[in-house]
Amino acid sequence: MIETVNLSLNDVFQLSVDALLASGANRKNAEAVAAVVRNADRDGCTSHGIFRVPGYCAALQAGAVNGCAEPRVIDQAPGIVRIEANNGLAPLAVEIGRPMLIKKAEEQGIAALAIGDSAHFAALWPDTEPLAVAGFVAMSFVNSRAFVAPAGGKKRRVFGTNPMSFAVPRNGRAPMVFDQAASAAARGEIMLAARDGHKALPGWGLDPNGEETDDPSAILKGVQLPFGGYKGGAIALMVEILAALLTGGETSLEAERSYTGHGGPSAAGHLIIAMDPKSFGQHSFLKRIEELFEEMLADPEVRLPGDRRLALRAKTEEKGVEIPRTLFQQVREIIEG
Ligand code: NDP
Repeated sequence: MIETVNLSLNDVFQLSVDALLASGANRKNAEAVAAVVRNADRDGCTSHGIFRVPGYCAALQAGAVNGCAEPRVIDQAPGIVRIEANNGLAPLAVEIGRPMLIKKAEEQGIAALAIGDSAHFAALWPDTEPLAVAGFVAMSFVNSRAFVAPAGGKKRRVFGTNPMSFAVPRNGRAPMVFDQAASAAARGEIMLAARDGHKALPGWGLDPNGEETDDPSAILKGVQLPFGGYKGGAIALMVEILAALLTGGETSLEAERSYTGHGGPSAAGHLIIAMDPKSFGQHSFLKRIEELFEEMLADPEVRLPGDRRLALRAKTEEKGVEIPRTLFQQVREIIEG
């Protein structure tokens, strides 16, 4: 049994800000990252909550990312916003680029935000959910360091775990959002399994000899596998192209080569797309979305993606979150220097 500490969401935010400031970030960058960390713990996404703060801090301390980055917004084309993120952490770049993305999506019906030179370590639903709250159908794609073998491969890592998120607005309710890695398991999940002494599930990955294993530590040294065989492999490939090649970001292999072993976020490309249903001439879009969801939920075995997260959100806002005492101490030590 792991000993835990109960923290309010505000505690999570404040500890994260303090640790990031102590590691060399300025307040703007620290608060943007800490908001994403707090929201991850709030929604039960433990693998992207305060668990990630020591990694963020290690990258800052190693000088691998710029904690005082000033992302520059570039009006690239009528439907395209580009951010020069100055090798900063992605949350501030997204926060700064979002208003222009929304403006362009309102004007053009569809717009994209391309971020090519930031470091990423977060979940993606914080990118798409606010866009759906603003009325847009939204998608987000990010690549990462190479951990995943292409479908059929056993030893050679080529893709990141390459997540994508999709969000759709709903009438008077929180948006429906899904957010998933193209790998069978997110790397953070495998790290948590290794830390907590749990077994890896079948299909998560192979050991360094290319053999199947349920040992999460062996998978971390070997290769992760895409979800669903060649179909997930194709999604990993698509995300790689959209996130890295279309934005000018480092590919997952390039990010792996430029990574210096600090344990924190690595270079990644990042593409966010917003679409306005009204501009597509769809004035009953929200009504039809509800009809579609009703059909899905007519089967009691079915739930909507994101519902687990929203249910946890209501609970943690009231009761706070439990984090391992060792992690709490680690973050305190960073703050105290
Ligand atoms: P999961 O497999 O846990 O969940 C994927 C999605 O499926 C979620 O939206 C989830 O909704 C939904 N879902 C799960 N079970 C069901 C069900 N029974 N019915 C309907 N929907 C369901 O996510 P991953 O492990 O693939 O990814 C975890 C996180 O890691 C993501 O936030 C991702 O962005 C992040 N990540 C970040 C990376 C980076 O480089 N920055 C790299 C890879 C991943 P719900 O949440 O409600 O369960």
